[in-house]
Amino acid sequence: MTPSLATKLYSAVRNVTSAPIRFMVNTHFHGDHVFGNQYFLPAPIVAHENCRTELIEKFDANMQRYYAREALRPELDQIKMTLPDVTFQDRMSLRLGDREIQLIFLGRAHSNSDILLYLPDEKLLYAGDLAVNGTLPAFPDGHITKWLTVLDKVAEVDAETIVPGHGPVGDKNDFDSAQELLALLNDEIRRGYDAGLSEEDTVKQVNVGRFSNLAGQDRVGLITHMAYRAFSGELE
Ligand SMILES: [Zn+2]
Repeated sequence: MTPSLATKLYSAVRNVTSAPIRFMVNTHFHGDHVFGNQYFLPAPIVAHENCRTELIEKFDANMQRYYAREALRPELDQIKMTLPDVTFQDRMSLRLGDREIQLIFLGRAHSNSDILLYLPDEKLLYAGDLAVNGTLPAFPDGHITKWLTVLDKVAEVDAETIVPGHGPVGDKNDFDSAQELLALLNDEIRRGYDAGLSEEDTVKQVNVGRFSNLAGQDRVGLITHMAYRAFSGELE
């Protein structure tokens, strides 16, 4: 999140309420989800324990991904590493009045710190980048087979409204599509891997079928690279 996006988010909150901001929750460690932390202090920043670790250990790579876009640099120069100060391992609950917000970690997937935010009474699920809408998923830290295992568990959550990490708010059908797309990518890349093709040749034969009109088609190269690393056991 850039400072200007953080300001927009802050204004959006202020359009709804003048109450103090009680918690800032990071769904995982990627810069577009955490770089706005400093603008929500003194609210505690809540995240998975691994989010804090990944932010520290991968800060430079995390910043570099966005720094590659020249227009973003003046904004990124204002970012100070602002770490989560409330962390958990498997799950925790936040309560705002009588509203319960469950934070749930299901294992490595899009990163090693992805969490769900689930409001059971509202059947509302914030999926972070575990499920995105209208684009191929981002894969700088993705482990495709573990991600699929995690999505099988996410699918069991009783949710009607699903807020993705990117793209419009959706429902169970949109989640099912994200899951189907990831499974298709896995099958397509696995076929090349099992046939002993190079990554480059596999990229050429990956066919995402009904998802070929989505944004992010240029991500197939990185997805293939990371999938090869996952298949070979190189990724933990
Ligand atoms: Zn992400």
